[in-house]
Amino acid sequence: MIYQSTRNNDIRASSAQAILDGMAKDGGLYSPDSLDGLNFDWKAVLPLSTQAMAVKILAALLPSFSETEMDDLVRRAYAGKFETDELTPTVTVGDDTVLELFHGPTSAFKDVALSMLPVLMTAARGKCGVSDDILILTATSGDTGKAAMAGFRNVPGTRIMVFYPYGGVSPVQQAQMATQDGDNVCVCAVRGNFDDAQTGVKGIFAAVEQQGLLKGKGVCLSSANSINIGRLAPQVVYYFRAYGDLVRNSRIVLGDPVDFVVPTGNFGDILAGYFAKCLGLPVGKLVCASNANNILTDFFATGVYDRNRPFFKTVSPSMDILVSSNLERLLFLLSHDTDLVARLMASLAKTGTYQVPPFLKKRLDDLFFAACCDDEGTKRAIGAVWQKYGYLMDTHTAVAYDAAQQYKAACPSHAPVVILSTASPYKFPTAVLEALGEDPSADEFAAMDRLEKSTGVPLPKNLQGLREQPVRHRDVIEPKDMLSYVLEKAVQKEW
Ligand SMILES: *Cc1c(COP(=O)(O)O)cnc(C)c1O
Repeated sequence: MIYQSTRNNDIRASSAQAILDGMAKDGGLYSPDSLDGLNFDWKAVLPLSTQAMAVKILAALLPSFSETEMDDLVRRAYAGKFETDELTPTVTVGDDTVLELFHGPTSAFKDVALSMLPVLMTAARGKCGVSDDILILTATSGDTGKAAMAGFRNVPGTRIMVFYPYGGVSPVQQAQMATQDGDNVCVCAVRGNFDDAQTGVKGIFAAVEQQGLLKGKGVCLSSANSINIGRLAPQVVYYFRAYGDLVRNSRIVLGDPVDFVVPTGNFGDILAGYFAKCLGLPVGKLVCASNANNILTDFFATGVYDRNRPFFKTVSPSMDILVSSNLERLLFLLSHDTDLVARLMASLAKTGTYQVPPFLKKRLDDLFFAACCDDEGTKRAIGAVWQKYGYLMDTHTAVAYDAAQQYKAACPSHAPVVILSTASPYKFPTAVLEALGEDPSADEFAAMDRLEKSTGVPLPKNLQGLREQPVRHRDVIEPKDMLSYVLEKAVQKEW
């Protein structure tokens, strides 16, 4: 298997090179050229530990790395970092199964992939004969930045710079980032919104590439966003983990289908579910759950992707997104038509909209179901599930829970349902408290304490004492100064 651009069959790369580059040079995303003839022995991995599963699955998806190499990388990525040895346990909630992805070092599901990406990237650097330091640039609306820093912290040969919107992230997220330790991390607030930070980072990549601004300086740039295939591949593993758990608990018989409901933003998490299906796992429907920013719900209903619409700030902020980048990979894998994908993406860039042809719409209908849930519904779901089952969900998980109930009502012949839970409720304590019918305190840290007192659900270790930790990063800059900031920092020996 080789990787190629979603927009051009002639732009090809090994999996190691694709991880190093992050994105293809033509603006497309690197995708496996085909996932069809992989012949992956999916049954054989089900009894394995999560880590041993990861070795087999990652070696299949990233063939630059042998199983022996992957074994070493997986061990280094996860040893001692997660709250449980299984990494991603499942729990039963009513008729459904919840797959808890938030037991990593920053209590968000992005830890699963961002623990793995740094070791993949340094190994890829060796394979590709690159001796430069890798400088990771990331714009974040909250969760990615912290999880990426926790992953890259003190990893030799790498440095990481995170830009976030000044005043635009939650107080918990802000504290998580500003207190980050490590010799190779840098966090900077940008006076603007997330789009300003993201546009700034994209502009830096383009300027550095076109003008050779870092040539001979011993540094090359890469990305930790989910456009990097090294972030997508590790997410395939937990679909197998959940399926294996259902077999072990006799909720299904080996070979039965399972439906997965995924709270979706950039379409990375749910695309990993499609990869799992391509590897042979009996994935039934993939249910795409959105909040009030329901561009994907409309897309699956009509075949028209249209970003010309208002943007809502919701209580599930990690899903507040209008351009779901990874959808491009799905369009490529379902059509194998790079001209078509290039045309659709050009249309999106120019007019903010595109329509998929009927054959593609049909394939999407077969694979996916989509539903959305606004803030009211999100809070109602949190309250109802707590009342009924004593299970506490975060806001993103609650969107998926609500979508799951919509799906089951619409498709009575559904398979057993697994709901992906992407964050600890303590990352969004004010909204969760309010959902439980309590007066939300003005201060998020006080809300955290109150939530723990009133539910008895333990506060994750990494969030305990966050308030008392020393602030290490205070820089605030204008968007127009981001490039000079990066160029200056890139050549400093020590941060
Ligand atoms: C990033 C994120 C999502 C969305 O995942 P995608 O892969 O971008 O679709 C959902 N929930 C939480 C808590 C997240 O941090």
